[in-house]
Amino acid sequence: MPGPDTTPRDERYREFFEDDITGDFVAAPDGTLLECNPAYLTILGFDSIASAQKVKLPALYPSPEAYRAFLARLQSERKLIYHEQELIRVDGTRVHVVENVIGRFDESGELAHFKAYMFDDTRRKRLEDQLHQSQKMESIGTMASGIAHDFNNILNTVLGFAAQLQKHPYDPDKVLRYSQTIEKSALRGAELSARLLSFARVSRREDVPVDVSRIIDEVVALCAESFPRGVALERRVDGPLDSVKGDHAALYQVLLNLSVNARDAVVARHGTAGGSIVIQARNTTAGDDVSPELIGGPDLRCVEIRVTDNGIGIGPDIRERIFDPFFTTKDRGQGTGLGLSVVYTIVRNHRGTILVESTPGGGSTFRVLLPAMAPGVVPRTPRIARLPAPGRGELVLIVDDEESMIDLATELLHEQGYRVIGARSGPEAVRALESRAGEVRLAVLDLVMPGMDGEQTYRELKAREPSLKAVLCTGYLPGEMRSTFVSRENLRVVHKPFTPEALLSAVRETLDSPPVA
Ligand code: ADP
Repeated sequence: MPGPDTTPRDERYREFFEDDITGDFVAAPDGTLLECNPAYLTILGFDSIASAQKVKLPALYPSPEAYRAFLARLQSERKLIYHEQELIRVDGTRVHVVENVIGRFDESGELAHFKAYMFDDTRRKRLEDQLHQSQKMESIGTMASGIAHDFNNILNTVLGFAAQLQKHPYDPDKVLRYSQTIEKSALRGAELSARLLSFARVSRREDVPVDVSRIIDEVVALCAESFPRGVALERRVDGPLDSVKGDHAALYQVLLNLSVNARDAVVARHGTAGGSIVIQARNTTAGDDVSPELIGGPDLRCVEIRVTDNGIGIGPDIRERIFDPFFTTKDRGQGTGLGLSVVYTIVRNHRGTILVESTPGGGSTFRVLLPAMAPGVVPRTPRIARLPAPGRGELVLIVDDEESMIDLATELLHEQGYRVIGARSGPEAVRALESRAGEVRLAVLDLVMPGMDGEQTYRELKAREPSLKAVLCTGYLPGEMRSTFVSRENLRVVHKPFTPEALLSAVRETLDSPPVA
């Protein structure tokens, strides 16, 4: 039997410290390393304690702000348990550590130094990232086939009725009916693509103080107009709400999607003659029944929006899937399955969270929590679309390889008092400009065209007519083009599919802007 351990106590602690597989260290708030063990050196790639002591902690963080944020959190929470942090090793590679950090504070409550125990969790983190990536690819696959299916249905209707139109051009009743169906289908297509866009990227276009109670007023007004009269709709806003930071239109979309789902659930249970929906909002604090970890704001105050219905409720079997893109229990044409995934993306982009409570057969409550701004921040009023002033006979050149786009733009601009000529390619546009020398005031340019593209065409036209103004019209604008060509030339961009107002405003505003050199 081994005899009693006679090693002195300090020595035994030192051995623990030296042999530990977690990187242990003590540091001052300015990042000076006071003490560390061999595992600390291994995790961060140092070859000796002396070389580790030459490097202050902020240099190991991805940015000085990241270190400051860590210190601020430690100062307020006093100790951090299972804190995840990305660090940069001496050789420049990244390491993902998980650490417990304990702060020591002086009598005035200021951080004096801190001890930390960290382990290298890079492998698990990488596997997790790969899993996310593969799940993302999987949902993109589901999405792509869903979109293809829906768009094919829409195109089928459009093509079928367009053929019918050509067969019966002299029957006014049929012409009216077929064109109305075509219009309805195209609107569904536009709605689908708008939802996809908000899903993909433009879900947070602005970053300004937003007044949630105003959004509630707008959505309640719209629902009162369009929901069946038998569905009771109630609005309850407790007191003045704090502003939240983000995009008015995106948050409007969140509330509208939740309200439309509530309507569907209520109608599915009670028909159009009963049921109720309550839309509520209040200032609250995360931490009581919602984990503060879920809210990404600087503190725990948040604005909560609740949409409660007494509809059919959500069964436990589908609860996990309702936020998946293209998951729907509704009939084709009734639901796309994109509503809640759009809601989820927008809420996450606003650093908020969404929770669902539901009793199958008894109704559901969707709770959206968004981090609040400091009390008293005044919300920005969203811009209201106004119809632009009409044209004054200015000659506009439309350049697009799609003939139907030229036809549409010509029609819209003509109606508003502009004169219009069209060109199907860059070289044709150059010829058109030369034949009407000095007359063309503005070119509406498609960006993506075979052969000479929009940017090249723009240069050719400007070389001949330096005072010519231009508007870009495109379904897709690569990021690098936005940051170079478009911003350098200070051009307005109209995104396809565009509303008549969007095109007309861009044209009018560009023509009215100061002359270009
Ligand atoms: P969609 O409404 O087009 O089906 P969503 O993504 O908005 O797509 O919703 C997905 C599914 O979640 C719905 O088909 C429905 O089964 C369920 N769901 C969403 N909101 C509610 C609600 N308030 N009550 C009951 N079921 C709901």
